Amino acid sequence: MHRSEITINLGALRRNVRTLLRALDGARLWAVVKADAYGHGAVDVAGAALGAGASALCVATIPEGLALRHEYRTERIIVLGPAGSNREVAQARDAGLELAISDSEVPEGVRVHLKLDTGMGRYGLSELPSPANEVVGLMTHLATADSDAVFARKQIERFRVATEQYSHLARHVANSAAVLRLPESHFDAARCGVAMYGLSPFNTDPAEDNLEPVLSWHTSLAQVKLLQPGQSTGYGRQFIAQAPTWIGIVPVGYGDGFRRDLTGAEIRVAGEPRRVVGTVSMDSFAVELDRELPVGAPVVIIGHGVLAEAHARVAGTINYELTCGVKTDALRARRTVVDG
Ligand SMILES: *Cc1c(COP(=O)(O)O)cnc(C)c1O
Repeated sequence: MHRSEITINLGALRRNVRTLLRALDGARLWAVVKADAYGHGAVDVAGAALGAGASALCVATIPEGLALRHEYRTERIIVLGPAGSNREVAQARDAGLELAISDSEVPEGVRVHLKLDTGMGRYGLSELPSPANEVVGLMTHLATADSDAVFARKQIERFRVATEQYSHLARHVANSAAVLRLPESHFDAARCGVAMYGLSPFNTDPAEDNLEPVLSWHTSLAQVKLLQPGQSTGYGRQFIAQAPTWIGIVPVGYGDGFRRDLTGAEIRVAGEPRRVVGTVSMDSFAVELDRELPVGAPVVIIGHGVLAEAHARVAGTINYELTCGVKTDALRARRTVVDG
């Protein structure tokens, strides 16, 4: 018996990829699978995304790219993060990875994308040098595609002007938010992560953009008890019953990726919304019930209407960070891949 079960629905992922391709209207979609595909499993996600029409894979580090190369021998793999040591660059060259380059030193024999800083203020060249032979792409990254379209359009315009004479190279700007809201950002390809996973780049309900969550997380009540007035649950006695109160103990905690700042979040127990109460422990947390339920009653932590976006608001973070943190290794949970 596993403490919890994480289900990755590749059918939903394929539908999201197709939804994004429709929005892109001819531009290519490159699937961003860094950080183990935002916690969803990079190898599974990459295969499904390519099958649904993505034409390249993007990762953050050379080791992530090398790991994917074992499974995907011929697909384009683009490393978005800084290049790393000379040894890593040599490995990238041997494995046929493409690298995003943010300074004027272009390594030889590797296909590269020059990254222009048009306003993100992070990695990137402030001016575009005349591209060397190794250069296959020109890119920039938007700081506010999800929050400030005016600033994002300024970045897009700077990029357009700076790269106009190199339109024979693949020009790419858009992340998920830009794919959905800023058609002028589409250029030749878009680097799509979060929306592909059915998570909203705007931290609102993904259904508004016809996206379906790919990850769901289930478990069941491990214990049920009645607290008498004055009795408490959990470390620090942060929840003290005012009246006789049924509570359920859920066998998942921050050691599994259910963060400590999720007290107050709403999950589903036996199909009904219930609040997380008291301090979240490493291996368990408590929910307030309205009546006695049997041990084993089903609990939905994420999925089936329980949105990562709602949890993120409670925790003061974004959906990206929550799914990246979900522990899928067999020592803590059972991970299943389905095609629904
Ligand atoms: C992570 C990343 C993306 C993907 O962003 P989403 O918001 O998840 O679509 C795109 N481009 C770069 C450079 C990134 O680092």
